[in-house]
Amino acid sequence: MSEKRKFQAIKGTRDLLPPDTELWNRVEQTARQVFTTYGFGEIRPPIFEPTELFARSIGLDTDVVSKEMYTFADRDETSVSLRPEATASVCRAYIEHGMHALPQPVRLFYTGPMFRRERPQKGRYRQFYQIGAEIIEALQQGQGGSKDIPKDAAIDAELLEMLMAFFARLELHSVQLEINSIGDRNCRPKYVELLRAELLKVKDQLGQDSQRRIDTNPLRVLDSKLESEQAIIATLPRISDHLCADCAAHYAELKRQLDLRGVTYKENWRLVRGLDYYMRTTFEITAQGLGSQNAVCGGGRYDGLVELLGGQPAKGIGFAIGEDRLILSLQEAGKADVPKGRDVYIAWMGATAQATAIRIAKVLRENGFRVELPPVEQKFGKTLGQADKLGSRYALILGEDEIASGQWTLKTLADGSQTKFTEPQLLDFLRG
Ligand code: AMP
Repeated sequence: MSEKRKFQAIKGTRDLLPPDTELWNRVEQTARQVFTTYGFGEIRPPIFEPTELFARSIGLDTDVVSKEMYTFADRDETSVSLRPEATASVCRAYIEHGMHALPQPVRLFYTGPMFRRERPQKGRYRQFYQIGAEIIEALQQGQGGSKDIPKDAAIDAELLEMLMAFFARLELHSVQLEINSIGDRNCRPKYVELLRAELLKVKDQLGQDSQRRIDTNPLRVLDSKLESEQAIIATLPRISDHLCADCAAHYAELKRQLDLRGVTYKENWRLVRGLDYYMRTTFEITAQGLGSQNAVCGGGRYDGLVELLGGQPAKGIGFAIGEDRLILSLQEAGKADVPKGRDVYIAWMGATAQATAIRIAKVLRENGFRVELPPVEQKFGKTLGQADKLGSRYALILGEDEIASGQWTLKTLADGSQTKFTEPQLLDFLRG
């Protein structure tokens, strides 16, 4: 006899099941609704891409690329990776389909699974889901430079307004938007050097990770959650004091534009993002009830990324919402109500009643009601018990008497009350 093997979902992955999937669908549907009102169209890029696409855009020194990607050699030996995020794919698609020739900027959103080999914990999975959006704008002749600042800042602010409108539509009010500017090619390298010099002075007071990052990526030290490092980090130089004139103007205009739109935010000078391609505007949204993994959304501006991937010079900004964490947060906040059970359970007995039951089930379903129709005849007692277990709102009782008189019995399961209806009366009643 062959040994019985129990299969289980791979560590860090999970099955999303009803009724939770109803909430997932509601969240994605809300994103579609809100984002389309801001002029976004949906893109569905593939789930795997050439490894090089991610290496070049996200950066070789990042944890995502150096440790966390699921990479394998395809049969023809090209290295491919499951996508750890989708911004690189969207930029690749923008270039591949010549979207620079469309009216600019191009606004795209996506939803779908991402893959990172991280240590699983609450709110952190190896297959997780993101809802993201990107605004990409090819630079036309004569464009670029200081005169674009008001337009760029307005685009950033509108994207953030849309994000907050999305959370508001979901009635998730406990979210907090944090913003920062991390400068650009002009001013950031000088700040990073200054930061490195300051960090070297306090090196032996820092933990191992931060010590390593002094070399590889000093900005990431600001991200540290290590208790013992907090007092030291508080004394480090702040990028806001070292922005070049254009970056400072962009950041000031962004804040003015957010005020104009009534978007509330908190400035967080320690907010640097883990991926290499960001510049100027960076932001994060945190939510309550998630423990240490409390970031539900991250994003920023990435002018130059499209060019880095072989396209015409272009600007860009985008975000990715962690849908798994958003769902957790909605559940914690008690905003996860989704219809459960059935609207109507049809308790029928007898061959003539079955014909009517089949017909009325179809009519009700066409009207959008969730209907349970038992496949075979059952005793009323059993059938009503089953209706209860399924969380049905009503039981429609169709026996010989009901069919003969044309007066059908509708039982409200919550209180056991019963009312007689003709078929048209029943439909009117259920439609409210
Ligand atoms: P990032 O692409 O790293 O900027 O992440 C954007 C958002 O995706 C984060 O704020 C999280 O909400 C979510 N996220 C990132 N990694 C994971 C993961 N391993 N598991 C669940 N959610 C994640």
